[in-house]
Amino acid sequence: MKLDTVELFQNAGYTVPVEGEIDFSDVDYYGDRPFRTARVTGKAENKGGIVTLRLDVSLDVETHCARCLKPLAFEQKAKVRETLVKRSEETDDASESYTVVDGRSLDLYDVVLSAVLLDIDMVFLCREDCKGLCPVCGADLNEGMCDCGKKDQEDR
Ligand SMILES: [Zn+2]
Ligand SMILES: [Zn+2]
Repeated sequence: MKLDTVELFQNAGYTVPVEGEIDFSDVDYYGDRPFRTARVTGKAENKGGIVTLRLDVSLDVETHCARCLKPLAFEQKAKVRETLVKRSEETDDASESYTVVDGRSLDLYDVVLSAVLLDIDMVFLCREDCKGLCPVCGADLNEGMCDCGKKDQEDR
């Protein structure tokens, strides 16, 4: 998914709507590939010579709970709020956050992926207080205590 930036940089007041989908199923995330399709909507806008990119991202994630291993599917939201500058206009001002556009268009893949990775959890849980699996028998402790746990209590 590419954003054509030629006219955008040339014309103050110019707005380009952005709408589409990006497939992130090849992305390796801590040894897993949990990402699916991201829906991207928003716009790029030239306001008085300053070009900004504002996108709302909704990414389908399919993974499993890190504790109980139950399959898990959810939508991860993210926002892109970037100022775009042409390669030739790049400055050394490190205090400004901007995306440098090389050539005539910007590939939104990296921009959207960085926004997602900024917001997404490192570990996915089915719920915050998931009790996980019994290390001895593998029973799902969310569904009640297994016999190993009961035995522990009887011994006490
Ligand atoms: Zn769980
Ligand atoms: Zn057990």
